[in-house]
Amino acid sequence: MNTAPFSQRIIEWYRQFGRTTLPWQQAKTPYKVWISEIMLQQTQVATVIPYFERFMARFTTVTELANADIDEVLHHWTGLGYYARARNLHKAAITIRDKFAGTFPDKFDDVVALPGVGRSTAGAILSLASGQHHAILDGNVKRVLTRHQAVQGWPGNAKVEQTLWQLAEQLSPKQHIDQYNQAMMDIGATLCTRSKPACERCPVAIDCQAQRQGRQKDFPNKKPKKAIPSKSGFLLVLRQQQQILLQQRPPAGIWGGLWCFPEFSSAAALEARVAQLAPNATLHALPPFRHTFSHYHFDIEPMLINVDDIDLSHIEAGLQGQQSDNNVMEPKPTLWYNLAQPSRVGLAAATERIIASLQTASIKELE
Ligand code: SF4
Repeated sequence: MNTAPFSQRIIEWYRQFGRTTLPWQQAKTPYKVWISEIMLQQTQVATVIPYFERFMARFTTVTELANADIDEVLHHWTGLGYYARARNLHKAAITIRDKFAGTFPDKFDDVVALPGVGRSTAGAILSLASGQHHAILDGNVKRVLTRHQAVQGWPGNAKVEQTLWQLAEQLSPKQHIDQYNQAMMDIGATLCTRSKPACERCPVAIDCQAQRQGRQKDFPNKKPKKAIPSKSGFLLVLRQQQQILLQQRPPAGIWGGLWCFPEFSSAAALEARVAQLAPNATLHALPPFRHTFSHYHFDIEPMLINVDDIDLSHIEAGLQGQQSDNNVMEPKPTLWYNLAQPSRVGLAAATERIIASLQTASIKELE
């Protein structure tokens, strides 16, 4: 049983299994490591290798990159995606040419100030290329750390990220930081993978909290779903035997162009309109339900009136000029929809649900 400190086990693993033959690992320079780190953001190693080789063959120094036309830089990036990365590389190369005489800076503050370089990338460049002591925290490292320490919370949250940075700093060894950082990235990419972590081959499995608890897939915690607001709507379900009155929704907005029951923003507004159109009718509340859109919950309260002995054209005309919530008179096409012989029109989800409940009710009534 290997109970050596965390970082020692990671370094030992690297010496046995780590990747050492990648093109940017040969005759390492900060420039090569920088280009590889940027290319590797959101892109797999195998895809990056040929791009890296072509890029370095054309832009052999930072100054050559700075002097090149941006179109040519983008051309060498074609197929890698996320083109802001290439634009930032070019801008950063110009900064290095003009401010640092073409020599890649070796101070952390100067590196992290370059366009497209964050704290983790700056740490990776300076530790991998120059052996400077900096922690890193890219997506792969976050996965290993959150699983190993069962860190709760979404890593995108500032507090959780701060905890992870502290952890990354604490665990970083005083010596061989380059091997340790490279190993952490390799373990995240090849063993501690998102869906099928190979814990049986992992050098830190023995004290990995997620592995012990069998909860590898719970870490890192997912981004919490935003609480979405809710609003209410009152739908007037006017029925005359097998017919129900539907209105077409305006083309823009929810259920645009689909057919729905006339909607009111309050029960009082609905009742007032019913009192005008069918003063003697009795309103029955149907079961309320919630329909969820991507950006809000819609709590729907359908109110039914049976209007068997009322002139339908009078009601229809009254609802065609129904005032919208913003008090603008909008002509809204209406349709008497036959429950027994449904028209071929697009129905809003709420309409379908209410129709289904009416049909069930009518079957029960017939029994
Ligand atoms: S034991 Fe498994 S879950 Fe834990 S760090 Fe290693 S690979 Fe990841």
